[in-house]
Amino acid sequence: MNNVNTPMMDQYLNIKNQYKDVLLFYRMGDFYELFFEDAVVASQALDIALTKRGKSNGKDIPMCGVPFHSADNYLPKLIKKGFNVAVCEQTETAEEAKIKSKKGPLKREVVRIISPGTLTEDNLLERKTNNFLGALSDNNGSISIAWVDVSTGYFKSRNIQEDNKSSTKQLLANLLLRMNFSELLISEDFDLDLIVEEWHSILKKQPPSLFHYSSCLDQILSYYSIVSLEGVGSFSDGEIKAAAVLLSYLKLTQCGKIPLLSMIQTETQNNFLEIDYFTQKSLEIFNNLSGGTEGSLISCLDETKTACGARLLKQRVIEPFCKIEQIQDRYDLTNWIIENKINISQYQIDFENIPDLERSLSRISLSRGGPKDLFLMSNGLLIIKGIYEDLISHNQDGKTPSLLNFIIDNLDIDYSLFSNINKAFKSNVPIIAKEGNFIKEGYNKELDLLRNYRNYELDHIAKLQKKYSDLTNVNSLKIKHNRMLGYHIEVRALHDESMRNIDLFIHRQTTAQTSRFTTVELNDVENQIINSFEKALKIEIDIFNNFVTQILDKGKEILNVALSISELDISIMVANQSISRNYTCPNILEEKTLEIFGGRHPVVEQQMNLNEKSFIFNDCILNKRDFIWLITGPNMAGKSTFLRQNALIVIMAQAGLFVPAQKANIGIFDKIFSRVGASDDLAKGQSTFMIEMIETSLILNTATDKSLVILDEIGRGTSTFDGLAIAWSVLEYLHEKIKPRTLFATHYHELTSLKENLKNLSCHQMSIKEWNDSIIFMHKILNGEADKSYGIHVAKLAGLPLDVTHKATKLLSNLKRKDREKQHMRTDDPVISEKNKDEEFFREFDRINVDEITPRQSLDILYKLKLLRNMNE
Ligand code: ATP
Repeated sequence: MNNVNTPMMDQYLNIKNQYKDVLLFYRMGDFYELFFEDAVVASQALDIALTKRGKSNGKDIPMCGVPFHSADNYLPKLIKKGFNVAVCEQTETAEEAKIKSKKGPLKREVVRIISPGTLTEDNLLERKTNNFLGALSDNNGSISIAWVDVSTGYFKSRNIQEDNKSSTKQLLANLLLRMNFSELLISEDFDLDLIVEEWHSILKKQPPSLFHYSSCLDQILSYYSIVSLEGVGSFSDGEIKAAAVLLSYLKLTQCGKIPLLSMIQTETQNNFLEIDYFTQKSLEIFNNLSGGTEGSLISCLDETKTACGARLLKQRVIEPFCKIEQIQDRYDLTNWIIENKINISQYQIDFENIPDLERSLSRISLSRGGPKDLFLMSNGLLIIKGIYEDLISHNQDGKTPSLLNFIIDNLDIDYSLFSNINKAFKSNVPIIAKEGNFIKEGYNKELDLLRNYRNYELDHIAKLQKKYSDLTNVNSLKIKHNRMLGYHIEVRALHDESMRNIDLFIHRQTTAQTSRFTTVELNDVENQIINSFEKALKIEIDIFNNFVTQILDKGKEILNVALSISELDISIMVANQSISRNYTCPNILEEKTLEIFGGRHPVVEQQMNLNEKSFIFNDCILNKRDFIWLITGPNMAGKSTFLRQNALIVIMAQAGLFVPAQKANIGIFDKIFSRVGASDDLAKGQSTFMIEMIETSLILNTATDKSLVILDEIGRGTSTFDGLAIAWSVLEYLHEKIKPRTLFATHYHELTSLKENLKNLSCHQMSIKEWNDSIIFMHKILNGEADKSYGIHVAKLAGLPLDVTHKATKLLSNLKRKDREKQHMRTDDPVISEKNKDEEFFREFDRINVDEITPRQSLDILYKLKLLRNMNE
């Protein structure tokens, strides 16, 4: 048995030994090759052929490979499937090895580990979505989290410690959903119970030794080249540990390089309107209930034009402000844009031509950016210079909103570097600098000379071809070029012998069809060409590197420019929506009030507009005196739409956006809860009702009198009486104990009797009109309560066969009768009204057919009526 590996396989195994947990993409010529178990796993994940190459310990070595130039098509598939990939490149050239007289394979090194949370390439990332890498730390029971988007430089941390484990777990679950992490780093000894199970697949365990406070602090200070974090913010020990673990992971995966990150910021808990996990889902903020994006709030709102703007908008919608000044600043800027008649469409065209500055900068800082990044970035920044000048020209009257001042200050930078890059680079620049030929003629004299010389030598080759063809009388003789032989003379194989007879020609290669030769002169010319090409390339790369250094020196300024452009992009979008969608600027107040006049549901309205239908406006007025609206009405009448539209209007308002309403006075909210009864979560093995109750208990335990609570059909998941009893007590608890502004939709008409006892609750109904035997939905909210459910009418509208709906009508009247009879037996039930009892008495009375009953029956009836009468007293 042969136990000896080839030198190449030895090199592979050495490297693989250091990267055991990742797939190793080992560069061989034009391919990345994978061996052994990696090959088996990757060939299955990528659905590519598994072959073999050579033997190890007498056994075939499994192998698969992907072409280097199309690796970008394969990598995302592996990353999406949760694999990390180590990219191992050849890091010395054949010439370098020759100089060192080195034997064996060329030197190869892992240059980067690609993992889901550390991506920087546009084709591997979603343009409008941040890609967050997070780290959790447990500092003696105190939980902290830090998160970073490597592709944009965004870096934040916060504490998530709550009074008890279950609230910490809940808060953490909200955060995980908000950030939608791609990878989450935890220490090997972290308590997994704190993390909801759906996130376990993205956890990456790290050695506990990485979480030592003093080395963590040193790492952060040294990354930012500062001596203390005191001037930056007030960070807990846990936040420092989590943040430093992120830096260590970046250093590891980027092979020593950490990308340019903005200064870390600590986030305090009450900085945002809290939108918990269930609310995010139930209001379909990012995804619809089936998981897609169509019909979500963000897909309806987002008309930003820059990638940075789209990402900021997403962040705003999920983290709306809680401070009036921050919201008002956004309104002021939008109003300034409208009042100053800023050319919205021109700005939007400009924005469309600005590349993703944050992501380009991140790639450049990791030495992954090429001439194209630099060129597009500079062009974008020159467009921004024009925007800056335009803003200044409109800003003459001194009434500058503070956010505009901030934007103008950030845009006030020296743009000459970008003009220089623009002057230096050709417009069709390559992605990779090594390809060369991206510097314009006339920019560098030496480069021009070398290029002229190269052209001269190329001309020389054309002349040599003519000369050799004349000499040999072979008209088809050509001078060609390939990577193996370089420049060579090619003739058909039949001329092989005659060519070999001429001393001038040196034989190189013969195939079935062709023979190839060279000459001393041709070799010389080739050397000159290579020489001048390499010299020219070096000049181009030096120019490129010089620009890169200057760009990185301006990195912080460019990140500030990107942030300002994102703010401006959103405000321009909002100004446009105030016209195109008739959205209005809300008034934000401290009072506990919510007054929405002529409100609409942004998503439903947009869909209806597409079908040329109009959405019916509705008012919603909650205040200190009347903070709970109990809403009844038939199915399909528009209750859920009404509930959600008010929640969405609040979110939009606190995100600094204009809202779909004629007028809105919004007392600032601290939290928002939205629950839709009976949402299924069978996958998690919890019953529908259990989930409903967990969600409801979360509201009752965490809502405050500054919260907005939207409850849609709570109690629907259990029997009628259980459900009614729960809904009843929940309403009472909200009314008496918490006092949040609440919208409560229900099918339990019995609940409306609560208005007698709960003085801050009022009843409202979605109006309908009965017409012939049918109903028309008016979608208008009115005072008062609905008197019936109209479920069977709705079933008819849905096309149920007439036989079924007729039968249902009969059954319904029987059931109602029986229910009433039962209710008479339960005098303590709050839902039996006096009116019902009287009605039942007279109904029994009317049923008596005096002409037909026997004396015995009449006695029975008398007893029954007496019993009913007694119950009424
Ligand atoms: P259910 O109790 O069956 O859930 P619902 O009362 O909650 O019904 P919605 O789901 O809110 O009713 O609305 C049903 C449909 O009515 C919506 O899909 C929408 O097309 C339409 N609708 C709702 N509100 C309005 C409105 N204000 N203007 C126009 N159409 C509306």
